Amino acid sequence: MEERSYPFFLFLMALRYFVFAGIAFSLFYILFKRNFIKIKIQKLFPKRKDYRREIGFSFLTMVIFSLYAALIFKSPLSEFTKIYRDFSEHSIWYVIFSVILAILIHDTYFYWTHRMMHHPKLFKYFHLVHHKSTNPSPWASYSFHPLEALVEGGVILVVVMLIPIHPVAIALFMIFMLSYNVYGHLGFEIFPRWLLKTKLGSWFNTSTNHNMHHHYFKGNYGLYFRFWDQLMGTTHPKYQETLNQLKNL
Ligand SMILES: [Zn+2]
Ligand SMILES: [Zn+2]
Repeated sequence: MEERSYPFFLFLMALRYFVFAGIAFSLFYILFKRNFIKIKIQKLFPKRKDYRREIGFSFLTMVIFSLYAALIFKSPLSEFTKIYRDFSEHSIWYVIFSVILAILIHDTYFYWTHRMMHHPKLFKYFHLVHHKSTNPSPWASYSFHPLEALVEGGVILVVVMLIPIHPVAIALFMIFMLSYNVYGHLGFEIFPRWLLKTKLGSWFNTSTNHNMHHHYFKGNYGLYFRFWDQLMGTTHPKYQETLNQLKNL
């Protein structure tokens, strides 16, 4: 990883974004658009100019996220991180555990920074760009103002400073992060209903949940889970009702 430079990180980020968001967009917005209409959360489709704006800002975000990657792997700061390179230093179980820990840390980090960026004094400068997508598409996954991208990307610094983590676990965490983000902005609800009805499943965040955040601006601030929204009383009052109105796949 040491020899890899900034353009390589940017290439990886762009590849990850265009593959994941591109597959979702091709399936749901082009190829099987009509087959999936029953599970479309908002009945209208975004406009071309929305896709263009979302892709443009997402690219800027990737430029900033790659700076963070260069910072933790290539700069003198890497000495102060808990990243370990020797796979045998911890068990394979720890690698899996560290990915789960990173996801939990990110969930908390996201909820609180997200709420902070909804403060009227900060919203316009940090978060307005993301909320221009009132009916988001998969391309909106990383559609952030550069200031918000700096905040969002900061989670990686928190993770590598807090827990011993292997680059493979970081890569898995990054892949999970983007796939869940693409799902959250998909515009279609594909979460299995049987799983949502279980105790464990009901704690997961759904695309409907995040779509409502984009639609109403208030409530549903969480990312992967609903723990924080439930604990802080910020779940949108119409969440369950909206979810129940959507047909099964
Ligand atoms: Zn928001
Ligand atoms: Zn969003």
